[in-house]
Amino acid sequence: MSKNVPITVAHGDGIGPEIMDATLKIITAAGARIDIETIEVGEKVYLAGNSAGIAPEAWDSLRRTKVFLKAPITTPQGGGYKSLNVTTRKKLGLYANVRPCVSYYPFVKVKHPVMDVVIIRENEEDLYAGIEHRQTQDVYQCLKIISRPGSEKIIRYAFEYAREYNRKKVTCFIKDNIMKMTDGLFHKVFNEVGEEYPDIIKESWIVDIGAAKLATAPEDFDVIVLENLYGDILSDVAAQMTGSVGLAGSANIGNLCAMFEAIHGSAPRRAGQNSANPSGLMLGAVMMLVHIGQPDIATKVHNAWLKTIEDGVHTYDIYKPDVSKQKVGTKEFAQAVVERMGQRPTTLKAVDYTHAEPMQFNYKFPQRKKEKKELIGVDVFFDWCGVPDELANKLNEIKIDGVKLGLISNRGLKVWPDGSPETFCVDHWRCRYDTINEGQPMTHEQIVNILHKVHEAGFDFIKIENLYTFDGEPGFSAAQGG
Ligand code: NAD
Repeated sequence: MSKNVPITVAHGDGIGPEIMDATLKIITAAGARIDIETIEVGEKVYLAGNSAGIAPEAWDSLRRTKVFLKAPITTPQGGGYKSLNVTTRKKLGLYANVRPCVSYYPFVKVKHPVMDVVIIRENEEDLYAGIEHRQTQDVYQCLKIISRPGSEKIIRYAFEYAREYNRKKVTCFIKDNIMKMTDGLFHKVFNEVGEEYPDIIKESWIVDIGAAKLATAPEDFDVIVLENLYGDILSDVAAQMTGSVGLAGSANIGNLCAMFEAIHGSAPRRAGQNSANPSGLMLGAVMMLVHIGQPDIATKVHNAWLKTIEDGVHTYDIYKPDVSKQKVGTKEFAQAVVERMGQRPTTLKAVDYTHAEPMQFNYKFPQRKKEKKELIGVDVFFDWCGVPDELANKLNEIKIDGVKLGLISNRGLKVWPDGSPETFCVDHWRCRYDTINEGQPMTHEQIVNILHKVHEAGFDFIKIENLYTFDGEPGFSAAQGG
């Protein structure tokens, strides 16, 4: 008998403690060989005065065990402390979020009987970098950060996962008709990395139509790889399509650590009622058992759970009088799974993880040629009220050596020169400065000089973005209509 594996457990907020108790009861009954270190995270820790929502000792436990089974936690909306989920994923380098969404038809009522989709969501960047600023009275911004290593890691992970788990196709959803640089990079990396996997079918869709296809023909999808925000949204949609968001588990995988959870949140309105479905967290725990080298226990738990679903023992979220037999609470559901331990489903496909490899893949990034980076201009953003021509006239009165004002845009649309009188403008202006000989290098001193001069003239510059070329290719977008 192999020795116990230490894991860190957090019971979370809202329905968290109930579904964690149910999950631990089930996996313990199956014989999981684990030693639990319990930590506190979330609302209680925050309210006790720790602004990060997690105590420093909790990180020690996570670094020691490297395996985290976490119940959902509450994150305040629109203010308050930052999401601890996002912080944990990033701090521990958990770049891949794996979310299988499976239809259990005919035992769970669904619109789409055939569905077995694995959503692989990028976990560390995108708009979830959470870098936001209020720059003027009326304008707020959130930076969308997409990196080549980040894209390459998650896309490679999706292809490796597909190969390891005998999946035939990997689909990428992007919006690179609009975000040509950020989503364009993700798409480009998908095409490049995909070439190394000739055995796997590759497909990409613009995310809006891709999402519509997923919602109406999930049987056409297998593994889907997405940036963070799209993946967050679409994995909830996919899980709900299988009958309930409460049915899907999730693995957050990094090179050193891994975290397992339900995909859903803390459902505060359901807390303390013994009604929540513990299946999502329990299926997250199944992935954890595979990860820690206990695939026999994972198989036992998952098959007992499938048998329970098949027997019509359902929590309120999937209970339908025409397909369900018994409506049960969280505790009773867990007990029903425990009673079926050792059994397998008879109609649904039984699982067998005994040959599954852990889901951790280590990559070495290839050495890349250093590109030639050249500064050729700057976008200076102003907080200003008025009409475009007036701003252009005022800025053109300020003489700056070797530099000229090239264009002005408002919310991305060019408004000078040749703006349109119908355009609605807000108090946030992007003014693009080029060198007199457009495309020639600009110096940092020239940028400092621009800022100095506009400041002297009484303008409030709120930020700048340098304009670079990389091996001669522009590293910035054109203005709309420009
Ligand atoms: P939610 O997923 O918590 O709940 C949405 C609805 O889904 C609930 O009202 C309930 O009807 C249903 N539901 C969710 N889980 C269920 C379950 N196990 N069984 C039965 N029904 C279930 O989403 P929300 O209301 O948007 O978020 C609540 C809180 O959870 C927020 O603070 C949010 O930030 C947080 N959250 C945490 C995580 C996480 O810890 N990983 C993930 C998402 C949201």
